[in-house]
Amino acid sequence: MARKVKADPSRQPFSYPLRRQFVEPDWKRLPGYKDVSQKDWESALWQRQHSVKNVKELKEVLGSFLTDDLSEEILRDQKERATMSILLPPQMINTMNADDLRHDPVRRYMLPIISDRHAEWPNHPKATRDSLHESEMWATEGLTHRYPTKVLAEMIATCPQYCGHCTRMDLVGNSVPQVQKHKFEHQPKERYEAMLDYLKKTPSVRDVVVSGGDVANVPIAQLEAFVCALMDLPNIKDIRLATKGLQGLPQHFLQDDVLKALDRIAKKAWERGVDIAVHTHVNHANQVTPLVAKAVKKLLEMGFRDVRNQGVLLRGVNTTANDLLELCFTLLDFGKIMPYYFYQCDMIPNSEHWRLSIHEARQLQHDIMGYLPGFATPRVTVDVPYVGKRWVHQLADYDKVKGVSYWTKNYRTGIEADDAEALTRRYEYYDPVYTLPPEGQEYWRKQLPKTAAHA
Ligand code: SF4
Repeated sequence: MARKVKADPSRQPFSYPLRRQFVEPDWKRLPGYKDVSQKDWESALWQRQHSVKNVKELKEVLGSFLTDDLSEEILRDQKERATMSILLPPQMINTMNADDLRHDPVRRYMLPIISDRHAEWPNHPKATRDSLHESEMWATEGLTHRYPTKVLAEMIATCPQYCGHCTRMDLVGNSVPQVQKHKFEHQPKERYEAMLDYLKKTPSVRDVVVSGGDVANVPIAQLEAFVCALMDLPNIKDIRLATKGLQGLPQHFLQDDVLKALDRIAKKAWERGVDIAVHTHVNHANQVTPLVAKAVKKLLEMGFRDVRNQGVLLRGVNTTANDLLELCFTLLDFGKIMPYYFYQCDMIPNSEHWRLSIHEARQLQHDIMGYLPGFATPRVTVDVPYVGKRWVHQLADYDKVKGVSYWTKNYRTGIEADDAEALTRRYEYYDPVYTLPPEGQEYWRKQLPKTAAHA
C-alpha cells in the first residue's frame, strides 16, 4: 500500500512546477514593433540594425510606455554614472515588462537609471576599472593567464548588447562621459597569432575561454579559424565560447553560415577529443524564450558538450532564492541550459547598488540548495582580485563590521612567479558599505579622502 506523501509542494519556500508560460513575448505590443513581421524579428541582421543606442530610439520603440521621468533618469545616469553605453537588441527589449519598466528586473541591469544607484555610496572606495586586474595578467594582448591550466582569450571588445554591470567596462564597448575606454593596440589578426603562439609554447595550459566582449560579434569565419587553430594544439583539451548574445540575440546563432561553421567546429572537436561548450550569461528567467531554446537545441544537436549559464547576482534582479530558483528551473526545463555559476557583481565603479555582501550571497547559496539536481545547482562565487573564483563559503576570515573578507589561494597568477608571499598572503574583498552596521559605515567615511584615488 502506498504511504501517504506529506511533502506538499505548496508548503515549501519555493514551489515547483513553474507557473510561467514558455512563449516568446509578443513584440507587437510595443509601438515601435507593431508592424514587424516574424521573418524580420527572426533575422539577426534586422535585430542588429534596429538595436537601440540612445533614449530617442528607445522612445520610438516604447512610445508612452517610456515615461518622461524615466527618460530623464536614463539620460542623467548616462551622463553622471554609467560605465557602459546603451545597446539593446529588440530581442532584449522584448523581455522587459513595458507596463512597469521602473521595476522590471531586465531594465534594472540592462538600462540603469540614476535613482537605481545608491545615493551615498554609488561607488565603493576600493572600486577600480579592470577590478580583476586582467590586463595586468595579459600574456599577450587580450590573453589573460591567471590560473595554472586555463586562459581567457578576449577576441573582441564589443558585444551585441551592453550590460550596465559589465566587469570589463574598462575595455568593452563605447566610451561614455564617465569612462574613456581603453583600446586594443594591435589588430585582431596579430593578436590572435600572438595568442596561439603563446599557447603553443605553454603546454601547461589545457583550457581556453574564448570570450570578449562577446563571440557573437566576432565574424564567424574568424571565430572558426581561431577555434580550429586552438584545436590543432595538442595541449588544448577544453574550449568554452562565451556569449551573452545567445540570450540577447539568439537570431545570430540561427543564421545558416553561423550554424554551418559551428557544426564544423563541433565535428572537429569530437574528432580531436576536445570538449567544446558554450557559456552564456542570463540573469533573469524572463530572458529565456523559445528563440533562445531553439538556438541552444541546435548547439546540443551539433555535439557541443553543454550550454552553461554564468549569471551575475544583481540586487533587485535575481537576489532572492525564489528569483534564482525560478531562473535555474527555467534555464534547465525550457532552455536546456545548465545553471553553473552565479558571480558576485565585481567591484567596478558605480556598481554598489547591484552588489551583495558576502553574507547575503552565502545565505542565497544556502537557500537554493536541495531543489535542483546536484549537477545543476549553481555555485555562488566571488572573483577575488589577484586570486580568482572562490565559492562564497571559502573565505579565510570575515570582518562583518568593516565588510572585509579575507581569501587565500593555492597557485600563482601569471604575474607572481617571483612573489614569495603569493601563496601565504591574505587577499581582501569588500562588501557594499551601505550593507554594513553604522560603525562600519563610519569607518569607510573616514577612509574616503585617503582612498578617493581608487574610485
Ligand atoms: S555581454 Fe558580457 S562583456 Fe558584453 S557588456 Fe555584457 S557583461 Fe560585458
